[in-house]
Amino acid sequence: MSEKIEIIEGARVGIFGGTFNPLHMGHVNVITTVHGRLNLDNVVVVPAAQNPLKAAVEGPNHEQRVEMLHRGLDEFPYVIVDDQELHRGGVSYTIDTVKAYSEKVAPENLYLIVGLDQFEEFDKWKDFEKILTLANLVVVTRPKHSLPFSEEDMPKGLKSLVAVFDRQFVALTTGRSIEFVRLQDIDVSASEVRKRLRTGRNVDKFISIKVEEYLREQGLFAPLGPRIGDYEAFTHFCAQALFERKAINVRGFDLRPTEAPTEFTLIASGTSTRHASSLAEAVMRAVKDEYNVFPQSLEGSQEGRWVVLDYGALIVHVFYDFVRQEYRLEDLWRQGKDLQIKEAPAPQPAKS
Ligand code: ATP
Repeated sequence: MSEKIEIIEGARVGIFGGTFNPLHMGHVNVITTVHGRLNLDNVVVVPAAQNPLKAAVEGPNHEQRVEMLHRGLDEFPYVIVDDQELHRGGVSYTIDTVKAYSEKVAPENLYLIVGLDQFEEFDKWKDFEKILTLANLVVVTRPKHSLPFSEEDMPKGLKSLVAVFDRQFVALTTGRSIEFVRLQDIDVSASEVRKRLRTGRNVDKFISIKVEEYLREQGLFAPLGPRIGDYEAFTHFCAQALFERKAINVRGFDLRPTEAPTEFTLIASGTSTRHASSLAEAVMRAVKDEYNVFPQSLEGSQEGRWVVLDYGALIVHVFYDFVRQEYRLEDLWRQGKDLQIKEAPAPQPAKS
């Protein structure tokens, strides 16, 4: 915890971490509700350093994320924005942040706040048992995720730590507790907000005016369309980047005649997971060089089984060919127009 951050002795402190990419009303709802319900003195908001692989995705840099959090949360005087994970860099582990706070805040007064989606995976977090000796856990509801009804529904690794299970409240053998807080749910996620911003749709209900103004001021999450221009040409451009890296079975479709959520799609295979990941990287590099654009999101590139690059109106799917057979996405796109993608002939050496 940074020297600058002042927490008074005996304060009850909540830690709320996330990527906040961007900060949305779901986050604000968590902060204000838990602050009131648990009678906390401070809620510390800790933006996570991004996974190095995700850094290539469009979005705010570290400084911009911190500034966005300040602007979006400055009306709540009990909120502290702590950028320690950004300073540490690399992959962020909550245990390190909790340890830092445990030097100033007694375990009974320290609360780690997570959404139900995170709680379901909590037993995979680094040193989760240690976290549950240094801090209590507060779990807030999130649409499409259900609260555990009984000990049986708890994440597997947590079951052995349960001393008493009482629906809203679980006493743990570590001396700490897990409290479930029901929110007036706001069905919003950062990914949904990003999509809306990218496609120029209204986000009034999802992010505050101050955050929206800041994003606009900084040109963040602006629609990619104007930078990419003709998406059909862009699809062919990406296909050539795939061919250059020996992609197999490259096909492209114009999905505008269909109900699909995107306009164009490209699908290709690599002969191994490694090959598939390197194909996706090749597309990203070529697009960055030519259009100065990063994808809005990148999924699956570590495993290389099915990598998805989202360029707004174009989604690129790169498969390990063996996995592609399982999903047969082309069958879904039969109503679209096949773009008859072909490898461009290699440029001929100039005659002297
Ligand atoms: P993404 O859509 O990119 O996965 P996110 O909306 O889940 O992002 P994060 O910054 O990853 O946002 O979330 C930080 C924390 O806020 C997590 O603990 C998450 O569970 C919680 N959270 C996010 N949105 C909501 C919501 N609408 N209601 C309750 N909790 C939420």
